[in-house]
Amino acid sequence: MKTLTAWVGSVPIGSGHPIVPQTMCNTHTYDVDETVAQCIRMRDAGAGLIRITCPGLTDVPHMKEIRRKLREAGVDTPLVADIHFSSATAIAVAPFVEKVRINPGNFHKDHAEACRQFAELVQVCKQHGTAIRIGLNHGSLGARITDLYGNTPEAMAKAAMEWLELCIANDFYNVVVSLKSSNTIVMVQAYRLLAAAMQERGVVFPLHVGVTEAGNGDSGRIKSCVGISSLLAEGIGNTIRVSLTEDPVAEIPVARYLADRYDGKTGSSLVRLSLDGRKAVATYEAPSRERLILDASCDFGKRLLDRELDDVEFRGTVLNEAGEAVSIEGSGLGSYLADELLQAARRRFYKPEYIACPGCGRTMYDLQATFEQVKARTAHLKDVVIAVMGCIVNGPGEMADADWGYVGEGNHKVSIYKGKEPVLRHVPDTEAVDTLVRLIEADKA
Ligand code: SF4
Repeated sequence: MKTLTAWVGSVPIGSGHPIVPQTMCNTHTYDVDETVAQCIRMRDAGAGLIRITCPGLTDVPHMKEIRRKLREAGVDTPLVADIHFSSATAIAVAPFVEKVRINPGNFHKDHAEACRQFAELVQVCKQHGTAIRIGLNHGSLGARITDLYGNTPEAMAKAAMEWLELCIANDFYNVVVSLKSSNTIVMVQAYRLLAAAMQERGVVFPLHVGVTEAGNGDSGRIKSCVGISSLLAEGIGNTIRVSLTEDPVAEIPVARYLADRYDGKTGSSLVRLSLDGRKAVATYEAPSRERLILDASCDFGKRLLDRELDDVEFRGTVLNEAGEAVSIEGSGLGSYLADELLQAARRRFYKPEYIACPGCGRTMYDLQATFEQVKARTAHLKDVVIAVMGCIVNGPGEMADADWGYVGEGNHKVSIYKGKEPVLRHVPDTEAVDTLVRLIEADKA
């Protein structure tokens, strides 16, 4: 069954239209000029939609001004306001953006009141032609749903269907839905369940697909590609975000690669494949290291995730920066890539599992540098999930099943979490990495 089409400004999402790559600003929304400059760089890199956090009512005028300046500069990329808890902010900003991203379950603790607020937002969006993304995340589902279904992919799909039913009841179909998790198995299963539930219901809304808090570097790219490609290969997904703890402009080439590959515009550099039992032996002639990583993640991520394969060995050549062909197995790249891929598909863990949000206008510290520091100081550990999160408002909820969390409070202070509980608050940021490492090591001793 074809999906509906959501119109985000002039950009169609769903129903056979090309997959739309999108990204999100990590600037402070009140810094209008810096946000405008970053949006222009994103547009130039190929972003089809740009999301900007709108934490509260005082940011609504900033959003208006950002949009005005972008349109004045000839940038017509649709803008998405990212809202977390405040329905009043969502309602206030909806007339001035092309889409509002909400997690309606977070609007109000009382479900009936959250439904009322959501219906009010829908009316405003209808009046102004604004689309809505219902964006649910594993780890921030709310007690009402988790009490019924646990913190599971089923719970994520059920929660999404509840809000989609409310859209249908309000005759509102300009909707995109997402169910993100940093765990690739949870994320893929949740989207599959939701896609099946919408088919059964006979109303299929377009899907925004992404692995949330994927981290950075090769690991972040591989994890994102494993999760997103597993779904796109099944025809699930209409717009995508590759969420990296880096300059958000760096997300676009990866997202563009995925969109092109699953729109049939590009193929893989895999030239030969054989099977040795449940292990694949894959030979590549890759035009670059970056391309090898993306190709291999899409060629084998889904098969590892779905347990069709248990292992993969990489051979062949990759061109280095000087244009010389270098042996993949001889350079050590092959075994490194296999380790990374198996970890991203959650089949074998050779290093700590890192969860790091990409940062946004709520981040009040140098998230990228801190994440690098945490990784460097904990690389020797195993069997531990460590989260580095940009803000205290959403970080604790969104770090899902992390064993330990470093959560920025603002004012150069950090909260350290063990599981879901804060074990230390207001730690000065100059001491926080040391403290985190000491606590993890003591716990493991
Ligand atoms: S957890 Fe990170 S990405 Fe999410 S709202 Fe906070 S700072 Fe922004």
